[in-house]
Amino acid sequence: MGPAADPDAAALDASDPLAPLRDRFVQGGDVVAYLDGNSLGRPLTRTAERLPSFVREQWGEGLIRSWDEEWMELPFTLGDALGAAALGAAPGQTIVADSTTVLLYKLMRAALTARPDRRRIVLDDDNFPTDRFLLEGIAREDGLELDVITVDRTRGVSAEQLAAVLSDDTALVVLSHVAYRSGHLADMRELTRLAQESGALVLWDLCHSAGVVPTELDAWGVDLAVGCSYKYLNGGPGAPAFAYVRHELQGTIEQPIQGWMGAADVFAMAETYRPADGMRRFLSGTPPVLGMQPIVDMVELVAEAGIDAIRAKSVALTEYTIRLVDEVLAPLGVAVASPRDSDERGSHVTVTHPRFREVTAALWKRGVIPDFRSPDGLRIGLSPLSTSFAEVRLGIDAIRDELDLASRRDDAATVG
Ligand SMILES: *Cc1c(COP(=O)(O)O)cnc(C)c1O
Repeated sequence: MGPAADPDAAALDASDPLAPLRDRFVQGGDVVAYLDGNSLGRPLTRTAERLPSFVREQWGEGLIRSWDEEWMELPFTLGDALGAAALGAAPGQTIVADSTTVLLYKLMRAALTARPDRRRIVLDDDNFPTDRFLLEGIAREDGLELDVITVDRTRGVSAEQLAAVLSDDTALVVLSHVAYRSGHLADMRELTRLAQESGALVLWDLCHSAGVVPTELDAWGVDLAVGCSYKYLNGGPGAPAFAYVRHELQGTIEQPIQGWMGAADVFAMAETYRPADGMRRFLSGTPPVLGMQPIVDMVELVAEAGIDAIRAKSVALTEYTIRLVDEVLAPLGVAVASPRDSDERGSHVTVTHPRFREVTAALWKRGVIPDFRSPDGLRIGLSPLSTSFAEVRLGIDAIRDELDLASRRDDAATVG
């Protein structure tokens, strides 16, 4: 037990204003500490009820009529609700559609059409693979140059690093708001300002921040953003992604997958494609209505809880995690590979140890679920609306036990 100045898990849970909302999530099964909400958020009980009634009523009884009544507009109405609840985006700039990868591709290409005379794209070597792979392909197809910033893997891209590579030939900068590996939280406002000063457009990947770290996309003058909805937005496996395009850009950029749903008059069945005004032009095919249902519920819950309160609990959870790692796991050789300053940290804490691959496998068997990132990283994801401080305590103690067991196996092998 720590000194009085360090409250324990029970005290932290007792004084947590968001604690009652944990009951809104589906619980049960053998999981005792879910520490991977940053990869796949838990479902809401409301969603468990909504899906069967959606099938029976909107789909089963409304049938094709539901397209007119609600579904055609859902990419926009849900996008607007998400923009208001979590992104700092006024209506008419956010859609829900496609997968993250496809929306990233569409907006990367759209940005490049707006900067036809520029030949360079800036990214970093620690961005998520899909972001890097897409840019690799686009650069190859168009003969463009990639300026790859090499980052410290316990951190992310700094303003100094970005400033050093920008030039009047930079067309596009692609960055993650929260680094998927380290959890580093980028200074979105400052990095956006820097890139725009050089005349480039910026595309932000919000996968690891949407629903947990607030953004002010409008106020910070962000050009473009894409994020996924199955992490902190609890949309479920393969849930569609979202995209934000600043008002001023919408009329001037065009995305490459010109399908009928993005056309000016969808049901005109026109001879040739003419892009719709506004956000509709960023759609391609039929909206994934079924996949959007869980997001509707979670966006409502984020609005009810308040994104600032969610962020406050996220900070408290990551601070508590780091304190326990220092107390309990550091003596066993575990190091913190995430920023220690909460102003520079998203909602997960990455720790490293050479035995974490086997330790993670053992933890999963006992219902303690973090995730492993090669070669030696264990990510502890803290999803503020569904994770308690008690789960964190239990998880850290389980990691200690499994590390102990692993080193005793070594000792036994050496003696034997
Ligand atoms: C999870 C994640 C993705 C996932 O892309 P999908 O198309 O949904 O598979 C992309 N970028 C980042 C930064 C992520 O964390």
